[in-house]
Amino acid sequence: MRCPFCSCPDTQVKDSRVSEDGYSIRRRRSCPKCGSRFTTLEHIQMRDLIVVKKNDVRVPFEREKLYKSILLAVSKRDIDADKVDQIVNRIVRQLESGSDSEIRSSTIGELVMDELLALDKVAYVRYASVYKNFTNPKDFEDFTAKLARKK
Ligand SMILES: [Zn+2]
Repeated sequence: MRCPFCSCPDTQVKDSRVSEDGYSIRRRRSCPKCGSRFTTLEHIQMRDLIVVKKNDVRVPFEREKLYKSILLAVSKRDIDADKVDQIVNRIVRQLESGSDSEIRSSTIGELVMDELLALDKVAYVRYASVYKNFTNPKDFEDFTAKLARKK
């Protein structure tokens, strides 16, 4: 792979690490010419998916976007990036194994909510506040009250 800093055509892999669930590989690379280091990630993609948003606009599914939205919800919660990667792997596998290649954004949102509920309550509420578009403190109150009743 080409170096993103100096465009040198052959960078070297210094270290490869397989995620705990075995479905991703993270490679540390370094450039022999400029000495820069960067990371590449390898994931399984079985098919192309389309996300149908609330307003019926269709956009290609982006794994990175899903990853970042979850990473944002778990920030400062002492949760490993590898854990987030595993959640994304599970969700993507589930979406890809469905019969439809068009997925409603609400379906993805519900899958993320299920995963976060099992992982971390704070991250769960944070994600919900964005996903369900909380606009005032009362929304948080109602939501956490409902969450408390679930237990
Ligand atoms: Zn370079």
